[in-house]
Amino acid sequence: MHPMVKPALRRGWRDLNTVQFGMAPAHALTLGPVDTATGSFLDLLDGTRGLALLREEGRRMDLPDGHVDRLVERLAHAGLLDDARGGGPDADALREREDVLDRLRPDLASLSLTTAEPGEAIGRLAARRRLRVQVRGAGRVGVVLASLLAGAGVGEVDVRDGGRVEPQDVAPGGLPAEAVGERRDEAARRAVRRAAPGRPPRRGAGPSAGSDTPGFSLVVLAPRDDVSVHAPDPSAAEPLIASGTPHLYAGVVEATGVVGPLVLPGETGCAGCLHQERTDRDATWPRLVAQWQSGRRRPARACDLALAGTVAGLAAAHALAFLDGGAPPGAGARWEVALPTLQWHARPLWPHPACSCGAAEKGKREHTAEDGGSRETMTGQRHSKALRRTTVAARQAGTWRAYV
Ligand SMILES: [Zn+2]
Repeated sequence: MHPMVKPALRRGWRDLNTVQFGMAPAHALTLGPVDTATGSFLDLLDGTRGLALLREEGRRMDLPDGHVDRLVERLAHAGLLDDARGGGPDADALREREDVLDRLRPDLASLSLTTAEPGEAIGRLAARRRLRVQVRGAGRVGVVLASLLAGAGVGEVDVRDGGRVEPQDVAPGGLPAEAVGERRDEAARRAVRRAAPGRPPRRGAGPSAGSDTPGFSLVVLAPRDDVSVHAPDPSAAEPLIASGTPHLYAGVVEATGVVGPLVLPGETGCAGCLHQERTDRDATWPRLVAQWQSGRRRPARACDLALAGTVAGLAAAHALAFLDGGAPPGAGARWEVALPTLQWHARPLWPHPACSCGAAEKGKREHTAEDGGSRETMTGQRHSKALRRTTVAARQAGTWRAYV
């Protein structure tokens, strides 16, 4: 281990013997009391020295025996320590690609604040390079979103759509004006490749990119059609539910941006649950949806660039939070923001007992049998793990005092 105090957090002395790491409250911590010698020693924890050398430096600075190890342990326990050599073989491979890593440094720094263990941040970043994500819909939202994911280091981002690029699909960070008239999927994939910091590592034999759903860590549904954004078609998501593929909805409808729900099949509310819930609230909902779906195509939909970009950004952040293995903040909720007030609010989406996805039944079973007797899918295990992690994170959140 080559300990490094997380460089993403600015350091400041609150008084003679209390150090504050970080400025923004979400990730800031204080450490104290810290004597002057220990304070100067912190500067040596920059990832260039191994533990043996650090102990030697400690002796030279007259620090008591075992002090260096205790300090490193305390810092690690507080989540303030990274390991300049950690993260495993994939992380080592990424470190060798300096051109790629230089592009991703701000993303790595960000991950260092949302992960606790030394070396975990670069491990997660390296893991992104092996992920496969599909984005369905190559409009103003879809291509920007796909480019963001590729730019953030997701190894394979496939974009699906039909037809040819229209002038109104063009967006900064998305489809360029030169692509007008080209096939939408091809132009979108080119935009995604341009956004990626480098080629992903070679993968072994696996599910081919041509297959419909298997093998994707996440499918993002970002339709250009505003009816599909407002009333996502449950039947379109059936193969995703059947194959257990997590999927996320995002789009713009009539100057309203929508992100979510993130669906963990059989675990959290899906498009079918949403449809059922809306029908419960308003018996005329299915009749309206049928009219909207069969209505004439509008010449232009209300989807301004800034709102489309905002939705793409928030959806990409939700996607990455899930893909990185953290608590999926978009599960069970549909985030909405409308112009001109721009106030985000989350509408909860509960699993509906009448929906065939089974999330409501699973919730009930888990409620009655806490021993985990029900069969857990991979997604389920991952989800539960993520939730446990949130609990731990919640306990550590805020200002933390450590005595060294
Ligand atoms: Zn459902």
